[in-house]
Amino acid sequence: EKTLVWFRRDLRSFDHAALHHALTQSKQVYCAFIFDRAILDDLPKADRRVEFIHASLLELDAALRALGGSLIVKHAWAETAIPELAAELEVDAVYTNHDYEPQAIARDAQVAKVLKAAGRSLHTFKDQVIFEKNEVLTQAEKPFSVFTPYKNAWLKKLHAESDEAALHPYEIDAHAHRLVALPESTYPIPSLTDLGFEKTNLSDLNIPTGMNGAQDLLDAFADRMQRYDQTRDFPAVKGPSYLSVHLRFGTISIRALVRRALDAMRTGSGGSGAAVWLSELIWRDFYFMILFQHPHVVGRAFKPDYDAIVWESGDHAQSLFQAWCDGKTGYPLVDAAILQLNQTGYMHNRLRMVTASFLIKDLGIDWRWGERYFAEKLNDFDLSANNGGWQWASSSGCDAQPYFRIFNPITQSEKFDAEGKFIRRYLPQLSKLSNKYIHAPWRTPAMELKMAGIEIGSNYPAPLIQHDEARALTLQRYAVVKKVA
Ligand code: FAD
Repeated sequence: EKTLVWFRRDLRSFDHAALHHALTQSKQVYCAFIFDRAILDDLPKADRRVEFIHASLLELDAALRALGGSLIVKHAWAETAIPELAAELEVDAVYTNHDYEPQAIARDAQVAKVLKAAGRSLHTFKDQVIFEKNEVLTQAEKPFSVFTPYKNAWLKKLHAESDEAALHPYEIDAHAHRLVALPESTYPIPSLTDLGFEKTNLSDLNIPTGMNGAQDLLDAFADRMQRYDQTRDFPAVKGPSYLSVHLRFGTISIRALVRRALDAMRTGSGGSGAAVWLSELIWRDFYFMILFQHPHVVGRAFKPDYDAIVWESGDHAQSLFQAWCDGKTGYPLVDAAILQLNQTGYMHNRLRMVTASFLIKDLGIDWRWGERYFAEKLNDFDLSANNGGWQWASSSGCDAQPYFRIFNPITQSEKFDAEGKFIRRYLPQLSKLSNKYIHAPWRTPAMELKMAGIEIGSNYPAPLIQHDEARALTLQRYAVVKKVA
C-alpha cells in the first residue's frame, strides 16, 4: 500500500501521529504540504507567518531527506490539490492530523468525498492536543464549559490512562525506510516571492523557526519554568516560553511539552511554576474542545444573550478603533502593547487581556473587530485560543470574566509594569517620565511634562476616553445581559 501524508499545522518529522501511522501501515510513504490559496490569498502580502512556515518547511524537507524521504510543497487550493496529488502519486490513502476549525472540518470532508469517489480514503488522527472532542466529559457525559472542572477531569483522565500512553511519542525513525524521496526538481519548494509574499522583519526579530528553533526555546524555558507563576504577568520580564507560534505550526509536539511539565513537577525542579504552566497548556486543549463542540463561537457570542449588546458604530467607532490599532489611545500600556504586536507579531498574555478589555469595555467596540485584528497580526494566531481570549474579555464566552469586572488600564499598568520598563521599550518618547506619571501622562504636572519633552496631543496623544466615564457607559451597555450574568 502507498500513502500520502498531508502536513498542515504539524511541521515536524518526529512524534507525528499521521506520519507514524502511515509508516507502520503502508510500504511507501510520500509527504506533502500545500500552501493553501484558500488561506493565503486573503493575507497581507508581508506576513510573518508565511515566512515562518516557509523557513520551517525547508527544515522539514531537510529532516525528511535525512530520514530517506522528502517533502512535496505546492501552492494551490488544498481542497482540489490533495486529491489530484493522490491520483498523480497513485496512493491508496491520505493520512493527516485532526483540525478542529469549522472551515477546516468542511475542507477535510470535501477532500474525503473526492478521494472516496476515486477509490481512495482519508485517515485522520489526533495529534495537536492531548485530549480532543468528546474525550473529556462531565459525569453527565456533556462537554464542559467551565475550565477548572475540565482541567481536573483532564488530569484525572491523563493519570487514569497512565501518562505513558497519552504522552508517548509517535515513533518515526524505525520505519523511516518506507519514506519515498523525490528529486528536488520534481516539486521544487516555491520561494516566498513565488508565493506572492515579501520578506518581513522575522529574522531581525530573532524569532527562531522550525523544530530546532522550538527546541532551543524549550531548553531556555526549562530554566525559567520554576518561576513562571511569579514572572508570567510582567511584560518587561522574560517570563513565558514564547512557544505559541511553534505550537501553532506544530514544530514542537504538545506531548513533549506536557511531559516536560510533569517531569519538572515530579522531580521538584519545576518549583511552583510547572503546574501553572501545565494549566496553560490545558487551557489550549480546552479552547480547541470549545471550538469543536460549539462552532457558533466563530462570529457569535458563546452565551447568546450577549449578542444583544449594542456596540459603538459609525465614524466615531471607526476612529476609536483606528487609534487602538495604531497604538494611539493615550494610555501608555495599551499603546505599547499594540506596538509590540504591530512590530513583532507577539503580544504578552497580560497585555492581550488589557488591550482586549480596553477595546471592548473602555472604547465600546465590538469584540469581533479586535479578534479580527489579532487574527491578522499574531504570529501564533489560533482561532480557538484567540476567540476564547476575546470572548473571555468581552464576558460573552464560556467561563469568561463577569461583565462588571472591568480592568482599569492605569491600575493594570501600575501593577504589572510598575517601573514602566515595558512602556519605555515601545514608547521611547515617554522614557523621561517618572515612574509615577508614566502610566497616565496627562496627569503629569506641566513642569515635569515639559522637562520630559512631552507635549500631550503632539508627541503623545491625549487619552481617548476617561476610564471612569467609559466604565459607567459599559455597565449601561451590558445591562441587557444582567439577567444571565
Ligand atoms: P506561555 O505562557 O509560555 O504558555 C504556553 C502555551 O500555553 C502557549 O504557547 C499556548 O499554546 C498555551 N496558552 C497559554 N495561555 C493560553 C490561553 N489563555 N488560552 C489558550 N492557550 C494558552 N494564544 C494563541 O496561541 N493564539 C492566539 O491567537 C491567542 N489569542 C489570544 C487573544 C486574547 C485576547 C487573549 C487574552 C489570549 C490569547 N492567547 C492566544 C493566549 C495567550 O495569550 C498566548 O497563548 C500566550 O501569550 C503565548 O505566549 P507563550 O507561548 O509565551 O505562552
